[in-house]
Amino acid sequence: MFSHSLVELSRLLDQRSISSVELTELFLSRCQDHNQELNCFITLSPRTALEHAKAADKLINNKQHGPLTGIPFAHKDIFCTEGTRTSCGSKMLDNFQPPYDATVVKKLNQAGMVCLGKANMDEFAMGSSTETSFYGPTRNPWDLTKVPGGSSGGSASAVAARLIPAATGTDTGGSIRQPAALCGITGLKPTYGTVSRFGMIAFASSLDQGGPMTQTAEDAAMMMNAMAGFDINDSTSLERETTDYTANLNDSMDGIKIGLPKQYFSDDVDAGTIEKINDAIKQFEKGGAKIVDIELPKTALSIPSYYVVAPAEASSNLSRFDGVRFGYRAEDPKDLLDLYCRSRSEGFGNEVKRRIMIGTYVLSAGYYDAYYLKAQKVRRMIRDDFQQAFKEVDVIMGPTTSAPAFGLNELVDDPVQMYLADIFTVSVNLAGLPAISVPAGFSSGLPVGLQIIGDYFSEPRLLNLAHRFQQDTDWHKQIPEGFTE
Ligand code: GLN
Repeated sequence: MFSHSLVELSRLLDQRSISSVELTELFLSRCQDHNQELNCFITLSPRTALEHAKAADKLINNKQHGPLTGIPFAHKDIFCTEGTRTSCGSKMLDNFQPPYDATVVKKLNQAGMVCLGKANMDEFAMGSSTETSFYGPTRNPWDLTKVPGGSSGGSASAVAARLIPAATGTDTGGSIRQPAALCGITGLKPTYGTVSRFGMIAFASSLDQGGPMTQTAEDAAMMMNAMAGFDINDSTSLERETTDYTANLNDSMDGIKIGLPKQYFSDDVDAGTIEKINDAIKQFEKGGAKIVDIELPKTALSIPSYYVVAPAEASSNLSRFDGVRFGYRAEDPKDLLDLYCRSRSEGFGNEVKRRIMIGTYVLSAGYYDAYYLKAQKVRRMIRDDFQQAFKEVDVIMGPTTSAPAFGLNELVDDPVQMYLADIFTVSVNLAGLPAISVPAGFSSGLPVGLQIIGDYFSEPRLLNLAHRFQQDTDWHKQIPEGFTE
């Protein structure tokens, strides 16, 4: 039962073969049994979960339910949950109980989903390994000595180990897709503006986007139906007609043009990863897709431009944590300046401080033109690269990451190497495009993710291709040893 997809659980609930309370108890006990070894959760909330499950059962019994009613899941701890601690992985917010729900939280509540708790993450979503969390690193269920990726590593690890059937994540530079790839699950980063950012603690506002992390593409489509939509509270939310993300899952891929960027298949990429990606591409060819070799010549500029733009926005967003209004406050400040300085020095971890320093530096009067403005121009060039490519092809495919999961502590002292782990993901955020990562096999015993990138609003197509791929493969069904019972 615990290994079922959302679609399967939905059917069982609808047939009343199982109740939401029973499912909630099952997943809660898995979470409680395994959290110590994986450290996927910062907070588990069994009491509210069971209350919500009871309410869901009532709806189901009265036939007032939707497809997601009664299904347990978890939120990344970046989404504000009214009355439940929302730490964002930081000491700064260790005591923060939001007085309101994020829009995504509200929407999934309305859909009747049952939140079991808040998933571990890199502090303020800054990181690629979940090692910057104040609450300690999450582990990869495929190998406990490896990282699960980040920043949504708690969500990915928990879904991979089947402690929960689905979770939310956020992706500023890859934080849904990269951990999904390293843990062997499916993760969708929607087009910028599709999922509301209201109540999602801001890291880099022009890049941040929430999305689903699930076992299958079909499940991701189901979650998107509940998560997406215009929100008056988010000024960058897009007003568009409602999309049914499940409607096109079975469309034919005959004649679809898949672009393979030369830059994503270089010698720097792990050979086992390339092999699996090539196998996956053959599957799509069998389905009638056409392969086109393309170029994304600005790929190498994406890391330097992202690591100027993202810290710049972060330094501004994080100025609100001043020890006055919410979060951590230093003890016995001698004056106001001391309160600010010590609250921030004691409340933030090293990676967050590094980003704030880079950000304030590149935005400072003397360096703004040389760094921030330049990075914005490069950002536009990266977007143009993709627009050029989408004149020729329908989607772009390649590996989500250049190698499978790295070891815990392996890169913590080398931030530049850590930043380079994001080479294939950050350009998608800089351009605002949608992309999905799907399990495509294993290299050295660790999961490999295939990334499919599409033009704006092509989520139905991405989900369709991912779904068709999952009909022909069973990589997404693999469960790490030690979590199969
Ligand atoms: N790893 C990237 C960073 O550290 C992306 C993080 C994210 O997408 N939240 O900024």
